[in-house]
Amino acid sequence: MDKRRRSEKYDWLSSKTQSILKHYSCPESCNASCCKTHIIDFHRKEYEKILKNVDKESAKILKSSAVKSELEGCYKSIVGKCPLLIDSKCRIYDNRPEACRSFPFVIFPDAEAGFGLTLLLCPMSVNIIQDYAQWYKSASSTMYSQLTDLYEQYKNIEKNNDFCIEMKEQNLDLFIEFLERK
Ligand code: SF4
Ligand code: SF4
Repeated sequence: MDKRRRSEKYDWLSSKTQSILKHYSCPESCNASCCKTHIIDFHRKEYEKILKNVDKESAKILKSSAVKSELEGCYKSIVGKCPLLIDSKCRIYDNRPEACRSFPFVIFPDAEAGFGLTLLLCPMSVNIIQDYAQWYKSASSTMYSQLTDLYEQYKNIEKNNDFCIEMKEQNLDLFIEFLERK
């Protein structure tokens, strides 16, 4: 897949995640747990744009904590508790990286498809999983029961968890339509 198509694919997945996420909110009790354990991967251009747009102190913090990512030559990441999280609030919220805007969805590089999409488990995403199970109900009883079991197992989860489920790209538009009708 060439660079332009990869970039279009990334933007497409990113817009789908936002269309899904607008139907959900984070419970207060979670207290930004994803910002305490999450690894952020972002493109060099995004990194440079954020550095330009944030205040000097935030830029300094970001520069000193970002490291070269193994994923692709030009990606950077922050590992562990994000140093930009102050009193459970993101100090660069309006300029936060795309990976933070999409969380608990993770857009990952894929050699054939350009990018793929997974959903990590967290207090918010279990509700997405419950709805996804309902959407699957008429299409696949196996998927419906697997997702329902997952929801039952994790519905009381208190923080984010590395366990993830694949979100098939061919399901995204139909799932979004389902959410719009709810
Ligand atoms: S872990 Fe999930 S529920 Fe908690 S703040 Fe992050 S996205 Fe929201
Ligand atoms: S940049 Fe902001 S939203 Fe992203 S992990 Fe850090 S504190 Fe959280």
